[in-house]
Amino acid sequence: MGLTFEISSTAPTGGRRAALRIPHGTVQTPVFMPVGTAATVKTVQQETLEHIGQNGAGAEIILANTYHLYLRPGHELIRRAGGVHRFMAWPRPLLTDSGGFQVFSLAKLRKISDDGVEFRSHLDGSKHFFSPEHSMEVQIALGADIMMAFDECVETPATWERTRDSMSLTHAWAARSRAYFEAHKDEVRWSSDSSCHSERSEESPHFGALQSLTDRTQSLFGIVQGGMYPDLRRESAERLVEMDFEGYAIGGLAVGEPREVTREMIARSLEILPKDKPRYVMGVGYPDEIEEYARMGVDMMDCVLPTRAARHGLLFRAPEPGEEGTAVRMNVKRLEYAEDQRPIDPACTCLVCRRYTRAYLRHLFVAKEPLGATLNSIHNLSFYLDTMERVRGELAG
Ligand SMILES: [Zn+2]
Repeated sequence: MGLTFEISSTAPTGGRRAALRIPHGTVQTPVFMPVGTAATVKTVQQETLEHIGQNGAGAEIILANTYHLYLRPGHELIRRAGGVHRFMAWPRPLLTDSGGFQVFSLAKLRKISDDGVEFRSHLDGSKHFFSPEHSMEVQIALGADIMMAFDECVETPATWERTRDSMSLTHAWAARSRAYFEAHKDEVRWSSDSSCHSERSEESPHFGALQSLTDRTQSLFGIVQGGMYPDLRRESAERLVEMDFEGYAIGGLAVGEPREVTREMIARSLEILPKDKPRYVMGVGYPDEIEEYARMGVDMMDCVLPTRAARHGLLFRAPEPGEEGTAVRMNVKRLEYAEDQRPIDPACTCLVCRRYTRAYLRHLFVAKEPLGATLNSIHNLSFYLDTMERVRGELAG
């Protein structure tokens, strides 16, 4: 068995409060997933990730990138280590993307055929080939709880015809991903080989519970494409639903289009996707966006924004009296904070706001001290998790 998804309440706006049970734990949704591109959420250690957020529950699920881990250190090395969970010492749920988006956005000299994509590594120029079957093989080696079908991401803007052709290729690849996954899903290390867990559980208390994972499998989600065309989004959702995935992602959004368009494409897709399965919008967004999409009925989201912004000194905080919106952006490098002895967000009780001042964080940033990036990332991730915690509370009624 891969996953169960139990919805406890649905709001008139479509937003749902649910529990997603997957082999490495239960995830309360709607959820924001921090991105651990290279099996690390940049600058933040796993121990801290388990405790961020005001309720101290930490991140219940994180994401790792298949393209990056395939190139370095290599999926076979990670398979030998027991999968990404063990390799990075993260006992909680994990999701891997298909590698599709990175192949199309990072890799050089792509050659696309019906069979797959030939590309050159952005690291050293070496030549590689990804097919739907190979993406599945790599993701099974990585061993995340949830993996994604291999898709083509069309460039933006693209004509209707070009977008339709790309979408049709994505559907053919989704069917091949599904077929390979069904034939091989029992091969994940933690499902088929309980001995590797009992060895490790003696040295690490975090992994003791994994012995019970034998007979649990990974889950595969399909990805809706269709660019910025409502009719194609609907058609894509319909084709994928016919293939009967355990959950559905909406991909190819937040790639430079206006936010009204993003919202429209999500809405058209949600109309078609089954209400009893998890629905995931990939690569969004700002705090007010994730809040809005959660209220529309999106259950899962991920984005590098909170950590990337943090490394550039951009912090998010709750508005103070007289300020608009639900998230205020604050650039910590500004001179006005040089002697500001308040925390980033007086309303936040995260590990950082409980202890450090704006003045100190500005100093760390200006002096290029690595601790600055770490503390900024912890606060921003806390802000994102707290935003979802607040929305979950409201959806629960
Ligand atoms: Zn904080």
